[in-house]
Amino acid sequence: MSHKKITIGMFSLTGCEGCYFAVLDLREKFLELKNKVEFKNFRLFEDTEHFPSEQYDYAFVEGSPITKDNIKRLRQIRKHSDKLVAFGGCAHIGGIYHMKKYVDKDKAYNHVYGQEKGIDNLDVQPIDKIVRVDYVIPGCPVTPKEFLQFIYKVILGAEFEITQNPVCYECQSKGYKCVLMAENQVCLGPISQGGCEAICLKSGQGCWGCRGLVEDAEVDNLVKLLRKNHSNKEITKFFEVFGVKELINK
Ligand code: SF4
Ligand code: SF4
Ligand code: SF4
Repeated sequence: MSHKKITIGMFSLTGCEGCYFAVLDLREKFLELKNKVEFKNFRLFEDTEHFPSEQYDYAFVEGSPITKDNIKRLRQIRKHSDKLVAFGGCAHIGGIYHMKKYVDKDKAYNHVYGQEKGIDNLDVQPIDKIVRVDYVIPGCPVTPKEFLQFIYKVILGAEFEITQNPVCYECQSKGYKCVLMAENQVCLGPISQGGCEAICLKSGQGCWGCRGLVEDAEVDNLVKLLRKNHSNKEITKFFEVFGVKELINK
């Protein structure tokens, strides 16, 4: 008896495609998946990218919806998918484009595009402000292991969920030095969603919070602690990259 393969559409809005490249890092493991599910419209494999035209069991959306075309495309993807996955920080929380939110939008445009006209300059927003999102795989880029877990759960018909633990949990389980306490570095690990295996701390660099806030994040406590050794400017630099600057002065 033949079973129909699960179809997964892979779509990109505006982003660096680092999340899809991260998936390719799985190499053979990714190729093995192709025997079990059917990936469609994967731009890194195909010459041209298509507008969603068929029905997908799952659609992965990478990138941020920052042009009118992106928004139109996102709505089409939603229409053509049974389940939609926000894939990576750009789709999940708006991504590093948030930096634009804290400067004059037009100045930012001119800095990047100069006199060029006709490019949209919309506000940054996560995709769930525009369409319903069923699942999130966070990170900038995503953690390939979580992508694999997601696909295998889908194959087994099990529910996928990201465990809510701050980055500190993995950092300390792995025995990394706490750069916040030992070196007075800014680190957003205590308030950030873990699951990345504290990869930045492995190389002694503070966490920037690319996976978004963990549930019940104690932002005030962290800010109070950071204020002992850092200026507002230094703290802001970290909080604005992934769009949580407003929380500093709440
Ligand atoms: S989340 Fe990061 S790695 Fe993924 S597309 Fe956006 S900028 Fe690139
Ligand atoms: S280095 Fe950062 S992530 Fe690690 S324990 Fe310290 S505060 Fe938490
Ligand atoms: S340590 Fe922080 S910035 Fe680095 S990958 Fe994990 S969540 Fe993202």
